[in-house]
Amino acid sequence: MTTKNSQELFDKAKNYIPGGVNSPVRAFRAVGGNPLFIKSAKGAYLYDEDGNAFIELINSWGPMILGHANELVEKAVADAIQLGFSYGAPTRREVEMAELITSIVPSVEKVRMVNSGTEATMSAIRVARGYTGRDKIIKFEGCYHGHGDSFLIAAGSGAITFGHPDSPGVTKGVANDTLTAPYNDLAAVQTLVDANQGQIACIILEPVVGNMGLVKPAEGFLEGLRQICDKEGIVLIFDEVMTGFRLAKGGFQERCGVTPDMTTMGKIIGGGMPVGAYGGKKEIMDCVSPAGPVYQAGTLSGNPIAMAAGQAMLTYLNEHPEVYERIETVGNTLTSGIRANMQKLGLNYTLNHVGSMFTLFFTDKPVNNFEDAKSSDTALFGKFFNAMLKRGIYMAPSQYEAMFISTALTDEHVAQILDASYESFQEIL
Ligand code: PLP
Repeated sequence: MTTKNSQELFDKAKNYIPGGVNSPVRAFRAVGGNPLFIKSAKGAYLYDEDGNAFIELINSWGPMILGHANELVEKAVADAIQLGFSYGAPTRREVEMAELITSIVPSVEKVRMVNSGTEATMSAIRVARGYTGRDKIIKFEGCYHGHGDSFLIAAGSGAITFGHPDSPGVTKGVANDTLTAPYNDLAAVQTLVDANQGQIACIILEPVVGNMGLVKPAEGFLEGLRQICDKEGIVLIFDEVMTGFRLAKGGFQERCGVTPDMTTMGKIIGGGMPVGAYGGKKEIMDCVSPAGPVYQAGTLSGNPIAMAAGQAMLTYLNEHPEVYERIETVGNTLTSGIRANMQKLGLNYTLNHVGSMFTLFFTDKPVNNFEDAKSSDTALFGKFFNAMLKRGIYMAPSQYEAMFISTALTDEHVAQILDASYESFQEIL
């Protein structure tokens, strides 16, 4: 496989862009290589600048649940462009999007559109603070909620991949207001709550974690958090930027039956355009300006082109439950196939899986929290990643990420991925 053009672009990019990429996880540094520069994408495939084709397991880190360049979304964007790019004024589509989201996501009675998942989470905790009049928040080690200052404390995703779970530049004052607990550890949460009585505005978490690799909530964990929040007047926020409209139409909250007070969303709701949203109970959301005093705004929020893409995507998902059946089936087939391959080769790595998201951890330990995830052999992961890439399979270039399945994956693609995984395991042994 030649990657000459990508290499040249990367060399040039490093002169003008920090690290040569506009988001750290895109760099392949953690897997010992250079990123591929992508020229186009269609369906289940990415095509790079050297003409190589790859079967997709990242899908833009989640949004492309229907595969790349889906015709419905394409058409919606093409039509919207005819009407102008941005007005900075309300539009019919924003109302329709809000109506659609509130009808689908159990916890969301009112919603505000923003431009990214980071904006959604930053805004949500501000609203929770404004609503409760309290300063502190609880987050979980290894969860990633975007790059807002309050979240770059024991953060997962690119922050841990590049060795900076606590980012320089976050002031001590901000960091002091973020309390952290191990994921799946209710007792640790209770201890924090007891030690900070009346001071905690919200608990924010990924209800299924994608950002330390995939980690499932232990039985009773989400229910336990709900109880603590109810008892202490704490706002429970599910960050469903990854899981929303993916693990079920209404997000993981629909699947698990625990309803948070607020939900943050992103990725799929933009259909591939830069969109985020946060929403929740009316009485909380009515704190947001201009209904209430908590300020949050955006020049491009609710942008008509982004709303057109998001609306086309969500409308399709809303009307086609078979999407979820299909990606669940593919998730099951892929993960049981990888497990079977490992068994044949006498390997016992941990494979965590929920629906259309999964992570293969290069450790024999069960992975239920950040410490467990960090016991993985990241060098071995890197070898596996490169062995898969060589065979045309594009995985997330970090141990601390999840794979995302799209409906564009056919049974033939699944068979190709499984064959590649068998050969790759053999290669790295
Ligand atoms: N929250 C979660 C759970 C995420 O996975 C991400 C990004 O991956 C974010 C928030 C931040 O979203 P964005 O990258 O759109 O700012």
